[in-house]
Amino acid sequence: MNSPTTPSDSYLLPGLPKPVASRDGLDTAYWDGLRDGRLCLQFCNGCGKFQWGPEWVCHRCHSFDLTYKDTPAEGILYSHQRVWHPVHPALADQGPYVIVLVELPAADGVRIVGNLVGGPHQELVIGAPVHGVFEHHPDDEPAFSLLHWKF
Ligand SMILES: [Zn+2]
Repeated sequence: MNSPTTPSDSYLLPGLPKPVASRDGLDTAYWDGLRDGRLCLQFCNGCGKFQWGPEWVCHRCHSFDLTYKDTPAEGILYSHQRVWHPVHPALADQGPYVIVLVELPAADGVRIVGNLVGGPHQELVIGAPVHGVFEHHPDDEPAFSLLHWKF
């Protein structure tokens, strides 16, 4: 597993807003998990299924008994977008880059969005296995980590 720890190892160029947990705390466990090198997603105690993104109520059974649970950062490529014209000014010289939608079989098939590392021109095969890559920024204030994907 590749775990860059300095800004120069960042997949994305500096200048983007730093990700932080929402003020209501709904996704704090997710961001805390990433800093520990874990993928921790919302899990419903009512129906025993994962869901993502985080909500105050379960999409399936409408239970409010939600928690967070670790799941392997292993998935399959469900969809992708090769971005040639970034919308954020900080990414003006970044493109092209690849955004992926990854399905997580071990987490009831929930899907999560991320960046694909390994080059923007690599072959993108729907259904191919992808593996999580944690990018840590321990010296930032607040410290944060990102989860990217690679084949
Ligand atoms: Zn449920």
